[in-house]
Amino acid sequence: MPRVAILGATGSIGRQALEVMERDRERFTVCALTANRNVELLAQHADRWRPGLLSIGSTELAQDLRARLAYEPDAILHGGEGLRVAATRSQAEVVLAATDGMHALHAVADAVEAGIAIALANKELLVAAGGYLCARARQRGISILPVDSEHSALFQCLSGERIEDVATAVITASGGPFWNYTPAQLASATPEEALRHPTWVMGAKNTIDSATLMNKGLELIEASHLFGLAARQLEVVVHRQSVMHGFVLFRDGSVKAQLAAPDMRLPIAFALYYPDRAPHAIAAPATRSALGLEGRPASLSFEPVDEGRFPAVALAYRALQAGGTFAAVLSAANEEAGRAFLRGQIKFTEICALVERALDAHAPTADGLAHVEAADRWAREFTRDGIAAAAR
Ligand code: NDP
Repeated sequence: MPRVAILGATGSIGRQALEVMERDRERFTVCALTANRNVELLAQHADRWRPGLLSIGSTELAQDLRARLAYEPDAILHGGEGLRVAATRSQAEVVLAATDGMHALHAVADAVEAGIAIALANKELLVAAGGYLCARARQRGISILPVDSEHSALFQCLSGERIEDVATAVITASGGPFWNYTPAQLASATPEEALRHPTWVMGAKNTIDSATLMNKGLELIEASHLFGLAARQLEVVVHRQSVMHGFVLFRDGSVKAQLAAPDMRLPIAFALYYPDRAPHAIAAPATRSALGLEGRPASLSFEPVDEGRFPAVALAYRALQAGGTFAAVLSAANEEAGRAFLRGQIKFTEICALVERALDAHAPTADGLAHVEAADRWAREFTRDGIAAAAR
């Protein structure tokens, strides 16, 4: 009966994880749940699962949470310390890191040091601090299981294989809503248009990252950290149907791929059940249909990324090759620029231009946690200055 702590239980990934576990309540115990502001949903989850430990964004919200609960948990904590305690002192065997941004950095780092397995959805954290975290996890013999469709796909394809036999590991991109836009159309693209993703339903940040293709850039860096692959062993290809999530081409010319209908509950379940597979048909009917097994034709297409219109992937290669804190700078600058685009402060095409400027201006350092945090802060301030200048 795996004991699971969920950091970010009220977000899209956190909610879907609880939905996956709900189908198999006998199997899972939830020992900690956290959120930032959504006290109502956290209280609902908590009453359903009765974890001993809860954490929320502030003391006021913690009081509000206590008043709403139908049971008395062992502790209701708040803030960064609450996340750390939830990760390390709730008796969890697996910590699902499903917060966004860098909020859970110390909580996840502490869990790794405490020898607790991590199911990692939190993209920005893995990009910025993955070099450090994955190295520590390897030294401590701890699993970091990916909770993203592309990395779950590569994990499955690489299972039982030797890294030295990999010619290239390929991440697929849907191309996002702007794949067929001209450069002029991209320059005048609006947030509303960018939020209309063709195949995946995600939060605003991920959807904007899919429109710029920065999502794929971040995923390249994540894959490099997770699997110990060099930049030259990683590629991105545009695959509009989002059915093949990743594939590995081996030195001998054979390919292993993972395919499924686009449904985040699959990689979530893969990580939560690992090394078993979920016993229920999470996405089986949709997958059959996507592969032409339901009496209607289906086709899969692949095309290269157009780096002229979508420079994000090349920027990520650059950050990956530069190493150290460059990935943290790429991710933080991208987050700030993406937010500014959503607020209508900058044009769509300025997102990657601002990221490039931050990479140009960054002075490299090693990638320990303190350096990662300093680089993150520096990149945010530098990019905010650039946004303010662009808005003048
Ligand atoms: P959401 O924005 O939906 O959820 C974020 C979660 O983090 C919420 O529970 C939120 O709490 C909590 N949170 C926000 N700020 C803080 C804070 N300061 N301290 C503690 N907790 C905080 O994000 P998603 O679920 O979409 O994504 C989570 C991560 O997974 C991201 O890194 C994303 O890139 C990655 N990911 C997401 C995918 C998806 O399909 N959604 C796919 C692959 C990766 P509250 O609700 O109370 O604000």
